Amino acid sequence: ASYHESILATYTQSSIVIILVLFLCIGGVGSLIAWYIGKPIHRLNQVANEKDLKRVQMLPNPLSGVSEINSLSRGLSSMADNLADIMQNLEEKVAERTSYLQGENEYLLESSLTDELTGLYNRRGFNLAFEEALALSQQRQQQLTFVLCDIDHFKRVNDEFGHSVGDLALISVAMNLKHHVRLGLDIVARYGGEEFALVFVNTDIDQVLLRLDDIRQGFERNPVVKEEFITMSFGVAHLGEGELSSACELIDQADQKLYKAKNTGRDQVVI
Ligand code: GH3
Ligand code: MG
Ligand code: MG
Repeated sequence: ASYHESILATYTQSSIVIILVLFLCIGGVGSLIAWYIGKPIHRLNQVANEKDLKRVQMLPNPLSGVSEINSLSRGLSSMADNLADIMQNLEEKVAERTSYLQGENEYLLESSLTDELTGLYNRRGFNLAFEEALALSQQRQQQLTFVLCDIDHFKRVNDEFGHSVGDLALISVAMNLKHHVRLGLDIVARYGGEEFALVFVNTDIDQVLLRLDDIRQGFERNPVVKEEFITMSFGVAHLGEGELSSACELIDQADQKLYKAKNTGRDQVVI
């Protein structure tokens, strides 16, 4: 009995050791398989979460020895390629649209400041340009002259020849005025209807009066449209060096002088 008991104990011990070794082996092999499959999946998960398509596109192929994981990796890469293409397209479209809108914006801004008929500044454009020129000339202590010009009896041109001929006459007057100012320095604008505004910066008043006389003589020499001659009246407000005034005051002053020019015979410059 003791002999059999000792054999049984030995077998029991051996069985326990064998079972333990078997468990260890199974655990080891299981861990190896888990590591072999889990590592590439973990890497896929990592690059997919990095928000960098290039990292997904740069995944090695094959990524692992497991075909299912490789197929997953290829699927992810091709999705990243497609996404990159879409984003590229989108960027191009956005750039194209932005440049188109910038052009539109510039066009709208320019047309909101320009008189459609004559191509000169309209009242709005003039106000901006005048304020800017006045501020600059006062800052630099320079002279500035503001002139309001109004075509005499313009209604008659319209009545005799029609509105479209009147329009041509306005264009011709605008060209004549433009011809007598320094581009980029002085300002010429359609103030409204058949009234125009001129601003001469950093110019002696004698020079300004000579230019206005040139303009008047231009109208005397050349018909403004067809055989029709026109005359113009001018009201002048001048600011000497270092003198201060506001745009409104200068406009009021010139308006009063223009009124006087109209009431004392027209076709003249009043200062
Ligand atoms: P005055 O010497 O007192 O300035 O006389 P006027 O006839 O020039 O002045 P009035 O204010 O009586 O008439 C201005 C005319 O200008 C009437 C209007 O039809 C015309 N006019 C204003 N804007 C335009 C325009 O854009 N095109 C044309 N064709 N005529 C215009
Ligand atoms: Mg008039
Ligand atoms: Mg008028």
